[in-house]
Amino acid sequence: MLIDKLIFKIDILYYLSIISKNKMNTTDTYICPRRLVMIKIQNNCMFCENPQGPSYIIYVYPEELVGYIYCANCKDSAVECSKYWNNNVAFGKANYLKEKDIQIKRTSGIIESGWKLSNPFITFNPKGMETIHCYNKTQDLGRWCNLVDILDLNPPSLLE
Ligand SMILES: [Zn+2]
Repeated sequence: MLIDKLIFKIDILYYLSIISKNKMNTTDTYICPRRLVMIKIQNNCMFCENPQGPSYIIYVYPEELVGYIYCANCKDSAVECSKYWNNNVAFGKANYLKEKDIQIKRTSGIIESGWKLSNPFITFNPKGMETIHCYNKTQDLGRWCNLVDILDLNPPSLLE
């Protein structure tokens, strides 16, 4: 009898831990943001089928109109996905460097500080290397930099 109760208790705890784990793990329900151009702003939702009524937009990258469109019922999903995107997907492996002052290597080989990541989308250069766009506000200068160089020059330990 006592053992039965104990097993029941453990089962419940196990069950609850699975629920909270799934809730934390957004990847199961994660949807990629889209470029929101030429879209219906009625009955349109990236998170459910047959949405009714007005649609709303959250931009994750307003400069390029990239974001989520959702109906009144799916606001929570849209907010959760945009948070997940911002914390895990944007800027790829360099996500931890977003909004930070970083160093880049100029073509001359000089290491220069005062730069920031300026585009959350990683692209590939003609050589097939991952590049990320950086911007220097004081010089009003933008540069595509190799992602590996950015990660090498700005390791997490340097930011602490
Ligand atoms: Zn919806």
